[in-house]
Amino acid sequence: MPRAKPLTARAHSIVQQYLDAGDLAIDATVGNGRDTCFLAERVGCTGHVFGFDIQAEALRNTEQKLKSARLSSRVTLVCDSHANMTAHIPRHFIGKIKAVMFNLGYLPGSDKETITRTESTIKAIKLSTELLAPGGIISILAYRGHEGGQQEADAVRALLENFSEQGFKLEIEESPGPVLYKLKNKKRGRPLADSGQ
Ligand code: SAH
Repeated sequence: MPRAKPLTARAHSIVQQYLDAGDLAIDATVGNGRDTCFLAERVGCTGHVFGFDIQAEALRNTEQKLKSARLSSRVTLVCDSHANMTAHIPRHFIGKIKAVMFNLGYLPGSDKETITRTESTIKAIKLSTELLAPGGIISILAYRGHEGGQQEADAVRALLENFSEQGFKLEIEESPGPVLYKLKNKKRGRPLADSGQ
């Protein structure tokens, strides 16, 4: 049966179920800023979003978008690889990030030279699992049509299957084009009574 919504929209409808006002989120591949704006809206004025991209131009365009939508104060944009994400996240936020979004591949409309690479993608996903809050989610949309895309998608899947044996739940939505991976942290938050231990 044909799927009504593209997987980019599916990723939003799933991730939004995990985000409340005041939450922390990461956009690991800012690109055209659509996910960044979406996350900034969801976390509200008391939450915060960290966005990563290695293309300064992508970040400049996204900064403009955020300004027009009056969302800039909710977002920290970082021009660095997501493989270094922990260096830019305050230490007290470790284990408190509710959602991390990846949109792999190349930036539409760009020269297609700058694509996500398997090695840094894998590193960034591993770091994301360490940053994730109990009950949080990592969504990864992987494209397979460009050179290296299929290999990257396969490597991501193998990594996530490994995590699914370690307290995470993996769900996969296939399409003829991209594939959407959803990795949920099955741990629940500790009850308040336990927090002094
Ligand atoms: N393929 C998607 C868009 C992907 S955009 C679509 O069709 O909609 C992917 C973004 O990831 C690009 O802007 C690119 O600059 C960025 N990127 C590539 N490698 C990265 C890295 N190591 N860290 C952070 N961002 C990276």
